[in-house]
Amino acid sequence: MTAVPVALAGRPYDVLIDRGLIERAGALIRPLLKRPRVAVVADEVVHGLHGARLAAALGAAGVEAHPVVIAPGEAAKSFAGLERLCDALLALELDRGELVVAFGGGVVGDLAGFAAAILKRGVDFVQIPTTLLAQVDSSVGGKTAIDTPRGKNLIGAFHQPRLVLADLDVLASLPRRELVCGYAEVIKYGLLGDAGFFDWLDANAPAVLALDEAALSHAVRRSVEMKAEIVAEDEREAGRRALLNLGHTFAHALEAETGFGEALKHGEAVGLGCALAFRFSVELGLCPGQDAERAGRAIAAAGLPTRLGDMAGPPFCADALVAHMAQDKKAEGGELTFILARRIGETFVAKGVDAAAVREFLVAEGAR
Ligand code: NAD
Repeated sequence: MTAVPVALAGRPYDVLIDRGLIERAGALIRPLLKRPRVAVVADEVVHGLHGARLAAALGAAGVEAHPVVIAPGEAAKSFAGLERLCDALLALELDRGELVVAFGGGVVGDLAGFAAAILKRGVDFVQIPTTLLAQVDSSVGGKTAIDTPRGKNLIGAFHQPRLVLADLDVLASLPRRELVCGYAEVIKYGLLGDAGFFDWLDANAPAVLALDEAALSHAVRRSVEMKAEIVAEDEREAGRRALLNLGHTFAHALEAETGFGEALKHGEAVGLGCALAFRFSVELGLCPGQDAERAGRAIAAAGLPTRLGDMAGPPFCADALVAHMAQDKKAEGGELTFILARRIGETFVAKGVDAAAVREFLVAEGAR
């Protein structure tokens, strides 16, 4: 078992990465509890596939587990979904000293984490992430949120989990498209800050995506290490944590244009966004063209889009994309912020990027 520490002052916790962690969840969670009782929040899919195993493991350790099952999908991350979840947790009379277990992908992690942050002014929670995206990204770092009609993740809180259990076995039931979405976040770590990891991924992507144990374990561990290191240094995103948003200014705009739905999933948008961020960096004279080409090839090889034209349907409207970027919660005073690259493994936060240059770039990339 690998334990990656998240060294936050006063609230350190571990991300445990291994096979068979669900079976050991009771023994691992029990020491965190003052009273042996938890609420396990899962969506219908994860509850149906893996809920019984987790309940059995908790039960075997003498932990009373109360399932709270929600509908799958991003729509659950809403005020209505939050209200329903908080009500279910209150009905269980969940108290401080007990905790919430977020058992699922990023949607369940973000929603259950936010509910835990505000329930009775804050109860503890544990993340058991079940998608690759959640294991390498959303379960670590304490960002929790819901969406509103004005945008994604606009209402939320920083609330760090007490423990994260990344069970590699659980990824076997993940649909291929979801696995590839998670892989986009894995490549992102190499691109943003570790050229050696990118080289390793370039050679080992097929093994990771085939869920080869050694390759998958290395990919998850290195990703979590990078996230943990950045979060420990900059929990509230005053500086370096923003690098984790590589590709996200483009990604959020594209997701907004496509309605945050099945047409373009978040991970796919991140893959495409990273490819665009590298080519934009070349356009601005910051990054060698061969690095952008290599980045694009690796992203495409995983089955992710790298060009606006890879998307079905009419061309994107450049003005609409730039308008979404200006509304992004990371835009300051209407100025556009991007994570740009000097080369693979070396990126930086660029504030005040000229909207006209972005527009011109998008048109050159095939937007109208
Ligand atoms: P998700 O939670 O919707 O899961 C994707 C789908 O996979 C769902 O239908 C789910 O039911 C299913 N699923 C989950 N685990 C499964 C398994 N083991 N086997 C079979 N099916 C399974 O999506 P996601 O990609 O995990 O997360 C996306 C969310 O994460 C977004 O809301 C995004 O905003 C958020 N996010 C948060 C952070 C953060 O730092 N908090 C970072 C990145 C993304």
